[in-house]
Formats: sequence, structure tokens, C-alpha cells
Amino acid sequence: MDLKIWIEKLITEKPHLKEVLSLYDKVAGFNKECEKILKTENPSESLGKLLEIFGKTFEVPYEFISFLKEGLEGKEEEIFFYPKKLWEIAFPEEEVAEEEITRMLFLLSMPLFRKLALEVRKGKLNSEDQKICLVCGKFFSLSVIDENNKRYFLCPVCGYKEEGPRIGCSYCGHTNCEKIDLLVDEDEIRVELCKDCKSYVKSFKETMSLYLKYPDPYLIDLISLPLDVVAQERGFVRRSPNVLGIREIK
Ligand SMILES: [Zn+2]
Ligand SMILES: [Zn+2]
Repeated sequence: MDLKIWIEKLITEKPHLKEVLSLYDKVAGFNKECEKILKTENPSESLGKLLEIFGKTFEVPYEFISFLKEGLEGKEEEIFFYPKKLWEIAFPEEEVAEEEITRMLFLLSMPLFRKLALEVRKGKLNSEDQKICLVCGKFFSLSVIDENNKRYFLCPVCGYKEEGPRIGCSYCGHTNCEKIDLLVDEDEIRVELCKDCKSYVKSFKETMSLYLKYPDPYLIDLISLPLDVVAQERGFVRRSPNVLGIREIK
């Protein structure tokens, strides 16, 4: 797997990102392992295995896994085909911080959404609402511009990709460049800040040298974490998390 090699290389190049990159290595490994399991169409069996791998990969506390097991009971089929239901599982409030629960459920749901996204892609459906991902309903916070100057928005959860306006805000929907402020880093990764709704979206060109070296958009999103810090310090909001399930950088 190339990603492992890229991550090792990046850690030596950018040691300050070691923790984030190592976590991404786990997220990618988890999704890859689950991909095989989800090919079988037995919901309760595959969800059980998913939980097992999840617990092992992220060293999730035993109590959390047993809450999940309880929460999943009898709902396996529903969750397997409508993974959004997974986000609705209720946890006893005092046990784990809400933010942590949201992040864990995000990571756990990822392989299920990715499976769903593959099916949606085959059906070639069109989204009615361009602001959100057709598969999982998350907002877009990351976009890629291809060699033909077309811009694609990428969903962090399921990997669904959709063409959108080249300029403008994907959150409030305008396409007016005068309402957008730009931040650009040394790799030419850009953050487009909407002055109207205070949202921001990242974008980068596929021809950018960093992407040619590390052709994984989620990795580029993590490498450019300092841009999130600057945008958020200026009061702008990221509307969906990165691939690690993190939205607010503290
Ligand atoms: Zn999605
Ligand atoms: Zn906006």
C-alpha cells in the first residue's frame, strides 16, 4: 500500500503532523480491512466484525464497544443499509464526552458510507441539493480542481465526489467571487473564506506538486491543517470534519 510509504515519508518531512498522520494511517487501514468484510451481505455478522476491527485499530475502551453493541442490537439491518442511523445511537451522557462519541461514530460509519457511495455512483444519481453529500448528508469542506479547471467537492465520510461551481461558497450557495477571501499556503493549497456565512472550503489543484507526490486528497487536507487553524482563528467555520472526524481544531 502506497499510502503507508507516503505517510512515513511525510512524518519525516513534517514531524509536527506525526500524530495526525499516524491516525490517518489507522483510519485508512480500518476502511481497507472493512471493505472486504462488507462485501458479504450479512448485516449482523459484518457489523460485529466491523466493531471488532474498530476496537482493535483505535484502541477503543471496552465500555464504549459494549455500549455500541447494545445500541446496535436488533438494528443491524437498518444501520447496514442506512448508516446515518448509527449517528443516532444514544450513549449514557456522563460516560464519554459528546465530542468523542461523535468522532468515534463518524469513524465507525465511514466504511458503511463508502460502500453506499459505491452503490450510488453505479446508479449515477444526481443530488438535488448541491450543498450536501448525496450519500451521507455531510457538508463539503474539501474540493479538488482538475486539469480541465473543473471543481469537485469531496465528502470526508463516504468519499462521494460531485462537481460544483468553480467559484463561490458551497455552504450558502452563492457564486460571487467578491464575497470570497482567500488564504494560500506554501504548497498552493487554498482556503476560500465566505464573507457572507463565515464558512470555509479548502481547494487545491490536482496538478499541484504536493498532490503529484501524495495523490490522496484526504492526506492533503491533513497536511494543510495549519490553514484550518488560521481560518478558524479568524472566526470561520469548517462545516464538515476531516477524514479523522475532527472539525474544530483547538
Ligand atoms: Zn458523504
Ligand atoms: Zn457562504
